[in-house]
Amino acid sequence: MTEGNFSRVYYGSFNVVNLTFGLPEKSVLQPVWDYLLDNYQSTLRSPVFPVLLSVSTYLLLVMLFTILDVLALSWPTINRYKIHPENPVTWGDIVRTLGLTTYNHLIYIFPAAVGQWLWRPPIPLPKEAPSLSEFLLGILGCTILFDFQYYLWHLLHHKISWLYRTFHAIHHHYKEPFSLVTQYLSAWELFSVGFWTTVDPVLLQCHCLTTWGFMLFNIWISTDDHCGYDFPWSLHNLVPFGLWGGSVKHDAHHQRPNTNFAPFFSHWDWLGGTTSNLACSSALEGRKKKGD
Ligand SMILES: [Zn+2]
Ligand SMILES: [Zn+2]
Repeated sequence: MTEGNFSRVYYGSFNVVNLTFGLPEKSVLQPVWDYLLDNYQSTLRSPVFPVLLSVSTYLLLVMLFTILDVLALSWPTINRYKIHPENPVTWGDIVRTLGLTTYNHLIYIFPAAVGQWLWRPPIPLPKEAPSLSEFLLGILGCTILFDFQYYLWHLLHHKISWLYRTFHAIHHHYKEPFSLVTQYLSAWELFSVGFWTTVDPVLLQCHCLTTWGFMLFNIWISTDDHCGYDFPWSLHNLVPFGLWGGSVKHDAHHQRPNTNFAPFFSHWDWLGGTTSNLACSSALEGRKKKGD
C-alpha cells in the first residue's frame, strides 16, 4: 500500500459524516440546496455570510427571550416556566449585558468580519447537497466535538485561578443566567468558542450546508443553556436518559461553579464526578411535583 493510499484509508475510516446508513443516495435536501444556489449563490459564497448568519440568529434569539423576560414580569403563565420565578430579570441586567454584547460585536466580531471579507476567498459551493444522514450526523459530530473542547477549556479555566480571574470570571457575574448572559464573555472566551465553531466542521469535512446548520444549532443550544427557562419542550426534557444538560444543569453551574462543566451533554461531568442536580428553586420543585 502506498503512503497516499494508506492516508486515504486511514482518514476515510474516521470520516463519520460520510456514513449513509443505507439511506437513498438522492438527498432530500437537494431541492432546498438547488433553490439556495439558484437564488442566493453570491450571498452564500461571501466569506462574511457565516458571520452575518451567526450574529443575526443570536440577536433574534436573545430578542425573543428578552421579550419573554419582560412579559414574565406581569404574566404568570410565562413566569412559572422560569427556573427562578422569584427573581425577575431587571432592565439594569438587560442594559448591562446588552452593553458588553454590543462592545464585543463592535470591537472584535465586526473587524473579524471585515478581515474575512477582505482576505478570504469566496467559499466554493458544491452542486450536490449533503444526504440527510450526512447533514444530521455532521451536526451531531461537531456538537460532540465542541462539547468536549469546551469542557476541557471550562475545567481548566475554573481549576487555574489566574485563568478564571482573567478570562472566565466575567461570565459568572450572573448566578441566575438569562439569554443575554450567553455572550457576556471575555474576548478570549469569545474567540475560543468562535474558533471551535469554525474549525470543527472543517475537521469533520462537513458540507457547507451542514456547517451552517451546526452554527445555527450551536447558537440555539448555547442560548438555550442560558435562557433561564425550563420549558416542557426544552431539549433536556426531550433527550432521554439525562444525556442533555441544558438550561437547568447550566443554571446549576452558575450557582455551583465547580460542577457541570460541559456545555451540552452530561457524559463528561458524569465520568468526572462533577455532575450537580441542584434543585434550582422551590418553585421549580413544586412545579415538577405537580407534574407540570
Ligand atoms: Zn454560562
Ligand atoms: Zn464557568
